[in-house]
Amino acid sequence: MITLKNPQQAAKMREAGHLLEEVLTAVCAAVEPSVTTRHLDQLAERLIRKAGAKPSFLGYQGFPASLCTSVDNVVVHGIPNDHPLREGSLIGLDCGLVLDGWQADMARTVAVGAIAPEARRLMEVTEQCFFEALAVCRAGNRLGDIGHAVQAYAEAQGFSVVRDLCGHGIGRAMHEDPEVSNFGEPGHGMRLRAGMTLAIEPMINAGGYAVHMDGWDVTTQDGSLSAHYENTVLITAEEPEILTMRTMRARG
Ligand code: MG
Ligand code: MG
Repeated sequence: MITLKNPQQAAKMREAGHLLEEVLTAVCAAVEPSVTTRHLDQLAERLIRKAGAKPSFLGYQGFPASLCTSVDNVVVHGIPNDHPLREGSLIGLDCGLVLDGWQADMARTVAVGAIAPEARRLMEVTEQCFFEALAVCRAGNRLGDIGHAVQAYAEAQGFSVVRDLCGHGIGRAMHEDPEVSNFGEPGHGMRLRAGMTLAIEPMINAGGYAVHMDGWDVTTQDGSLSAHYENTVLITAEEPEILTMRTMRARG
């Protein structure tokens, strides 16, 4: 079921989103060689609880942590552990929280120390894929426009779009309808309406799009690097609003 949020409900989600941005920004800043993903997870959980919110990933279908930590060829859903991060890795950090009953969901991919130019390009292209999608997040446009925007940009840069996982509606539940694919046909699919809140989350591989799923871990089948970038977005009658960013990044 699609739920449209009224302005009061959108305001609650904005509050949750802004809090999550603060938390994830602090977690990203703590990434460096030798830090463990368990440390990052504990930091995320502590900051979320300190602010009076709850981590929404912890215990979700049995997930054992508050943060997903997906290193290098891990696409998403990596489980935090005690291995120290190594210089040159890419790490996807995906986090969700619930504040006063309203969810926010957000992910960033960051570099561990100095990384190879190709890894940096993958990170930047994945972020830009989100902003390409955001540009078509207009009431009256369709879900396929979002998928197409991500896919066209990623593939033009020589990368591929993960097909087996997608973004989603979000609200009182972390995962609501509709599914928001990162590939698709322009002009196809459900129409976007003001009041929809969507977690838009490109997952982009440096190699082929095929993934291997083993328990929680989703890895690239060819072992290539993967990156992930996500925000919770409110569709309005005018410009879309990123609920997990206080200030909109200048578009490049
Ligand atoms: Mg997420
Ligand atoms: Mg999500």
